[in-house]
Amino acid sequence: MYTEAEIKELLAKKNLFPSYHRIKILKYISEIKGHPTAEDIFIYLSKEIPTLSRSTIYNNLNALTASGLIKKLHIGDEARYELAQEPHAHLICEKCGKVYDIPLGDKYRCIYESLKELTEKEGHDLYDIEINIRGICRECLNKREGE
Ligand SMILES: [Zn+2]
Ligand SMILES: [Zn+2]
Repeated sequence: MYTEAEIKELLAKKNLFPSYHRIKILKYISEIKGHPTAEDIFIYLSKEIPTLSRSTIYNNLNALTASGLIKKLHIGDEARYELAQEPHAHLICEKCGKVYDIPLGDKYRCIYESLKELTEKEGHDLYDIEINIRGICRECLNKREGE
């Protein structure tokens, strides 16, 4: 979670103008412990900024993604966003649809290198990896036990 001053500093480092909307979007993504879609961000921020348009959200999300400050995730039908942080996998619960972070720690390098090697063996170039795990989350598992 970032303060407004820290967000301005982050934007400055990436040569991005610290516009009012950009700061609000980044603040929301840093505060929420989740992986919001553009629509989630729009619904939340438009309560505070009634004049906000969806295209403003999309344009800013694209700029923030291009700068590397946030990451665009391809989970399900809609893109989701999160702060760029340590590489991790995502578990998507088949029951409740929640998305959980799975830290990869030291194993990330190993997974990345293996996939890179295998991809290049096929003559392709690896650009980025995204690891999505399908399963049942701990909360749904606990509920099931309690039934
Ligand atoms: Zn669940
Ligand atoms: Zn995540």
